[in-house]
Amino acid sequence: MLPVDYIAPEFEVLRSAACVNCRKCEKECANEVHKFDERTKTMFADESKCVNCQRCVAVCPLHCIKIVRSENRFKENANWSEQTMKEIYKQSSSGGVLLSSMGNPLSNQPVYWDRILVNASQVTNPPIDPLREPMETRVMLGKRNEKVERNADGSLRTELPPHIELSTPILFGAMSYGAISYNAHKSLAMAATELGICYNTGEGGLHEDFYAYGPNTIVQVASGRFGVHKDYLSAGAAVEIKMGQGAKPGIGGHLPSAKITDSVSATRMIPLGTDAISPAPHHDIYSIEDLRQLIYSLKEATSYKKPIIVKIAAVHNCAAIASGIARSGADIIAIDGYRGGTGAAPTRIRDNVGIPVELALASIDQRLREEGIRGNCSLIVSGSIRSSADLVKAIALGADAVYIGTAALLAMGCHLCRSCQTGKCNWGIATQNPDLVKRLDPEWGAKRLVNLVRAWTHELKEMMGGMGINSVEALRGNRLMLRGVGLHAKELEILGIKHAGE
Ligand code: SF4
Ligand code: SF4
Ligand code: SF4
Repeated sequence: MLPVDYIAPEFEVLRSAACVNCRKCEKECANEVHKFDERTKTMFADESKCVNCQRCVAVCPLHCIKIVRSENRFKENANWSEQTMKEIYKQSSSGGVLLSSMGNPLSNQPVYWDRILVNASQVTNPPIDPLREPMETRVMLGKRNEKVERNADGSLRTELPPHIELSTPILFGAMSYGAISYNAHKSLAMAATELGICYNTGEGGLHEDFYAYGPNTIVQVASGRFGVHKDYLSAGAAVEIKMGQGAKPGIGGHLPSAKITDSVSATRMIPLGTDAISPAPHHDIYSIEDLRQLIYSLKEATSYKKPIIVKIAAVHNCAAIASGIARSGADIIAIDGYRGGTGAAPTRIRDNVGIPVELALASIDQRLREEGIRGNCSLIVSGSIRSSADLVKAIALGADAVYIGTAALLAMGCHLCRSCQTGKCNWGIATQNPDLVKRLDPEWGAKRLVNLVRAWTHELKEMMGGMGINSVEALRGNRLMLRGVGLHAKELEILGIKHAGE
């Protein structure tokens, strides 16, 4: 047999002479990279197992570990990258589908947020100083009444549809218990409650301990219907129907049995030791009329008190799909772009299916406005919102709020090693191994999430102030505040913005 399947390690583990053989790195690496050689009384590394999660680098008391990308490279060229060659060796050895986690990493596809710049006021419409003047970041998500009538005493006569109220236009995106740990979920729930925003259960049900955080929880109903029952639906601030996910449009989900612990199986209401497979379609939804039936069944089950969100992946005809959803009784549409994260997805689908969320958002907002139904639904966008600048641009393109997923994981310590599918997350996030889970202290995780969202909200206020705008509501869909750089005419037309200099 030819040794073609041998692939040299991607990373090298460098250990300086300062190492005192304390073996902490050995204990902390769930991938079993570090070992102690009893014969030579020195540490060594099995570099083939290293995923560059940086855990050992951070915990080494003497900071004597460095992980570097190996210089041993294949002879790649512009057409055949080393990665492509390795994937072909892997598939010709295994015959299997390639799996990946986290979002699409490809650099040859545009990130439109980075090609859009924001305006600032100069002489007329002067800037507002957010430290001295009030700035409104609160948003209400849900259907808007066409008109509101009041009684003589000023009280509302019109009955308002159910809403989610957020102190700032940021929510934590769907991440299921099972894909992420109990402590990661608890961190998200605690932070959402402290911030006055919401986190999202994902498709894994709601652990009984987290019912207490219900007013700040969005409960999801996906095609697998894991953990869905009357109390679950009533527990949250809103119910989200997941029709699609940006990282894997058109396919279902698969949580392997290795991640189905006692607690995950009880929460999902599935037998222990089975894989949790959610089918690609909802087997009762084959048309907008079917979707409408599910929306009204969920409204009925929650006494018409909860807004219903429909989450879709950003795909080619998403504006038409959103138009149908906006007419089907949904209160909020969540659009997940092709750079969105995932615990595990087929690599080819993650990297090649779907469209950038910036284009999807702009076309959906435009279509709903043209059809006079923009007030039927709020829009939440997700799929790689990386900073407050992306947030500001998303709102100016028409979003009411954004979901953040990967950014929230990073706040909790994730180092984007992209190996969530192995269940060996050294940072205690994408794992169900009790020894690893306890590495993430929920109080600490929540504090860092709160810090992140507060920092972004502060930056949001500063950027709005710079534009002379004092509320998120006034920024929403205000595309005059945006300019494109290096974009061609069709891209600018879809985004509905002018080129810089115009
Ligand atoms: S943690 Fe640092 S000092 Fe301890 S064995 Fe590992 S490399 Fe050496
Ligand atoms: S997998 Fe992480 S903890 Fe293990 S050696 Fe690599 S960087 Fe260190
Ligand atoms: S959650 Fe954990 S396993 Fe997944 S990318 Fe982050 S550090 Fe790696």
